[in-house]
Amino acid sequence: MVLPIVHYGHPVLRKKGARITEITPAVTKLIKDMLDTMHDAEGVGLAAQQVAQALQLTVIDVREVKERPSTLELNGQPADVAAFMPLVLINPEVKGCGNTVAGPEGCLSFPEIYEDITRPEFVEVSALNAEGKPIQFKAGGLLARAIQHETDHLNGILFIDRMPTKTKQALKPELDTLQAETKATLS
Ligand code: ZN
Repeated sequence: MVLPIVHYGHPVLRKKGARITEITPAVTKLIKDMLDTMHDAEGVGLAAQQVAQALQLTVIDVREVKERPSTLELNGQPADVAAFMPLVLINPEVKGCGNTVAGPEGCLSFPEIYEDITRPEFVEVSALNAEGKPIQFKAGGLLARAIQHETDHLNGILFIDRMPTKTKQALKPELDTLQAETKATLS
């Protein structure tokens, strides 16, 4: 089931997600609905906050983005990214490593806003998968960027927080409009 995606200005986007302690049928259903919602919106990632649930849960799928490659290492060995998708991360712990790189990012909660964001090139991740089993891997390229963007959401951090002040100032009219539109739907 495709869920409504909340936009900037909705207070849930600033909430830190609660850890998931048990994979209940409700969690399994939410995962499926978040995958449906992400694919329907043609996004590469979706955090629980974006469907108004403050939980440590995100889904990612980079398969459709051919022009921006991703890398994956499982147990120190290169692994097939596509076979690892879609990726479900519960209670993820993410450590950035390598050099920082700038690259374009968008966000389903900020329609039509795309800006370069600087982040570490690689991440080391430990998390639970959709079945609640521990997984560990290292990712690079677009996948590393998507994981960092989404795990920020789980902590109430948005990509505008990672933009240089100048960029954010230039976007202020658009952000103010978006925030006002969202707040109007809440009242
Ligand atoms: Zn986002």
